[in-house]
Amino acid sequence: MKFNFITLFPNLVTPYFTDSILGRACQNGIIEINCINPRNYTKQKHDKVDEYMIGGGAGLLMYAQPLCDAIDSIGQTHVIYLTPAGKKFNQNDAKRLAKFNNITFICGRYEGIDERVVESKVNEVFCIGDFILTGGELAAMSICDAVSRNISGVLGNANSLDIESFENGILEAPSFTKPNIFNGSPVPSAFLKGNHSIIIALKNHMALCKTRFFRPDLYQTLKSPKL
Ligand code: SAM
Repeated sequence: MKFNFITLFPNLVTPYFTDSILGRACQNGIIEINCINPRNYTKQKHDKVDEYMIGGGAGLLMYAQPLCDAIDSIGQTHVIYLTPAGKKFNQNDAKRLAKFNNITFICGRYEGIDERVVESKVNEVFCIGDFILTGGELAAMSICDAVSRNISGVLGNANSLDIESFENGILEAPSFTKPNIFNGSPVPSAFLKGNHSIIIALKNHMALCKTRFFRPDLYQTLKSPKL
C-alpha cells in the first residue's frame, strides 16, 4: 500500500515511519510513504502557496492550483482531506481503507484549503476529533497508522486485531502482566488458574463493564447489553 502525504512539512511526517512497527513495514515493502510538497507545484512567484481569503476572513488559505497539480502528479489514488468538517474517523474506516492500494492525504495548514479542491479532487473527508490542530499532518498520520495495522503482514501477531477495542462495538477488557500482586493490588484470581473458558467469560464481562463506565455512548449502541 502506498500512502502519499501532500504536506508543506514533510519533515513532520517521515520520521514517524522510520521506527517500530510501521518502520519495519516500510523496510519490508508492505507500506510505502511518499511526501509531496505542494510548494514544488506552485505557479506563484516566490513558491507561494497561500493567500488571503476572498470575501474577507482572518488568516490565509492554501491555493487550489498547487494542491490539484500535486494530486494529479500521483495518478490513480483515493484522496482524503483531513478537516474538522469531515466524518469522525473510526475503526471501520480503518479496515475499509486498508483494502485500497494507493491513498493520498491532503494536510491542510493555515485556515485550510480552497474549497474547490475538495469539490473537484477529494473522495472522502475525515475529522479525528472535535478540536482544532495547527495542521492536517497529525490527523493524516493517525489515520495512516490505524489503516496500516489492518494491512496483512504489518502486525507481528494478527490475532491481536480481533480482541482489540471497538471490535464487536466494545472496549478491550482490562489487561495485567507480572507481578501477580502490585502495590497490594492482585490480578483477578481466575486469570491465574488456567481455565480458558472461565477467563474468556470473565474478560467479556469486564470488557462490558469497562465500556459501560468509560464509553457509555458505545455501550448504549449495543444490541443486547449483558450487564
Ligand atoms: N479554519 C479551519 C476550521 O475552522 O475548520 C481549521 C484550520 S486548521 C488550523 C488547519 C488544518 O488542520 C486543517 O485544514 C486540517 O487539514 C487540519 N485539522 C485541524 N483540526 C483537524 C481535525 N480535528 N481533524 C482533521 N484535520 C484537522
